[in-house]
Amino acid sequence: MASDFQSDYRSQNDITNCSMVTAAFPQLEKSQEESLVDNLLQWSLANGLVIYPPNFKSYQPVSAPTTLYPTPFPKVAFQDAKDVQLLFNELYAKVASDEKFLFGIIDELAQFDSDFTGKLWETYIKAKNQGIVQPLSLGIFRSDYMVNEIEGKKPQIKQIEFNTVSVSFGGLSEKVGELHNYLNNHGDYSLDEDSSKFYKTEDLPISDSIKKLSDGLADGDYYYNNQKKSTGTIVLVVVQDRERNVFDQRLLEFALLSNHGIKSIRLTLSEIESKTFIEPNSKKLFIKSTNDEVSVVYFRSGYAPTDFNSQKDWDNRLILETSKAIKAPTLLTQLAGAKKIQQILTDEEIISKFITKNPETENNFSQLLDTFVAIYPLDNSPKGLDAKKLALETPDNFVLKPQREGGGNNIYKQDIPNFLKSIPEKDWAGYILMELIHPQHYQNKILRDGEIYNEPIISELGRFGTIVFNQESGEILSNNDAGWLLRSKFESSNEGGVAAGFGCVDSVVLN
Ligand code: ADP
Ligand code: MG
Repeated sequence: MASDFQSDYRSQNDITNCSMVTAAFPQLEKSQEESLVDNLLQWSLANGLVIYPPNFKSYQPVSAPTTLYPTPFPKVAFQDAKDVQLLFNELYAKVASDEKFLFGIIDELAQFDSDFTGKLWETYIKAKNQGIVQPLSLGIFRSDYMVNEIEGKKPQIKQIEFNTVSVSFGGLSEKVGELHNYLNNHGDYSLDEDSSKFYKTEDLPISDSIKKLSDGLADGDYYYNNQKKSTGTIVLVVVQDRERNVFDQRLLEFALLSNHGIKSIRLTLSEIESKTFIEPNSKKLFIKSTNDEVSVVYFRSGYAPTDFNSQKDWDNRLILETSKAIKAPTLLTQLAGAKKIQQILTDEEIISKFITKNPETENNFSQLLDTFVAIYPLDNSPKGLDAKKLALETPDNFVLKPQREGGGNNIYKQDIPNFLKSIPEKDWAGYILMELIHPQHYQNKILRDGEIYNEPIISELGRFGTIVFNQESGEILSNNDAGWLLRSKFESSNEGGVAAGFGCVDSVVLN
């Protein structure tokens, strides 16, 4: 997952074996493009498609990086992602409810990543020893895909990763879909004088993720109170200090209040001890200044080691875990999203322990399996030994991933062998080796800080889902699809030949 617009290092060569499509975009005159950009920026600023720039003042947001045009996306692949979302939600809820299974994996993994995976696990064990009083868990998930487009074959979504903590861009995704629809309706994409629409409206769907994700938070509140409407409890959003992507989060909070009458408050992890208190008997969590009771703790922080400045922040995470409030996510749910777990779940035998083929889900079950590319362990198991050879001998087919979230951590292709040789072999088991996906690239344009960048882009589709489940029994209480996100990025190389791209929010034109 990623919380800002910096995208990962990717080798420029990643896209060389893909064909490029340019005809999908209006080829505007310079003056038409200038007027498009004016309209785009003013729409974005007027409608909250904004972020804070680095070193911001609170009154100075800027328009979020976006593409000028929606990017083509195969209709069948778009539908596939929707079809499998509920089953993916269920799978990860079931994994999060299986402490024994997680223990077997995480306990070993913690040795390789003691600073973070180890601390999450240690905090969970402490919480368990103190007593976990809330069996319910709220999953706000996002499953990310790229489309493998091979000539003559049906385009297929392939999963990049499944995110179980702090999934972002549900707010801005809806906005960028509205933006591209506005520009299309306004005639800004039209090449003719008559200002007709360039795209058919039905091909430009708008994600309903603001409503759906805030409905998910409301679900958590309702289950906490065992009521079907607001009873005055509030949602605590745990945030990073000086978050730049704050508007993406606020859009959900505003919808939560206007659609459900549920207020929210924002605190950083380090503020938890001073600004909240726990009622000793009930373990209910309250905000000190207002005496508001918290029903749901929604984490938009706490997914990377840098979110924890000291042991005190870990202690605060523990306070929240042992409170009665429903966590989105619990520590176990967060751990279920580890990349190592994703690798293990590509094994049909293992996945079948959590979700079973039944007549209702049979199609979705095989569709779900079809989203996997090969992912290997790098340990001393037979599979792991094969993978070590693959990593050293044919690295161009792979990306190497550590147990980290948030972008910028992966090692690609030719860099893999040297990287592996630079660390002790016993530590390789902390990484997974994943086959590279090769998406089509498109000559869309990215607008960032008022400047247009015209380079090939590749896109990643995220599908959101929300689920309320009982972590003790594995029972699922509600399970919903919650819209989607398209992020696009390009590569631009510096003199060192190192490619450093950046991402933007985008929307789809279905084809
Ligand atoms: P993070 O938790 O840092 O977001 P990801 O697994 O999502 O980690 O990887 C980050 C980025 O690396 C993705 O957004 C994608 O652009 C690229 N990437 C990851 N896995 C693959 C893959 N198998 N094939 C192609 N690109 C990939
Ligand atoms: Mg990611």
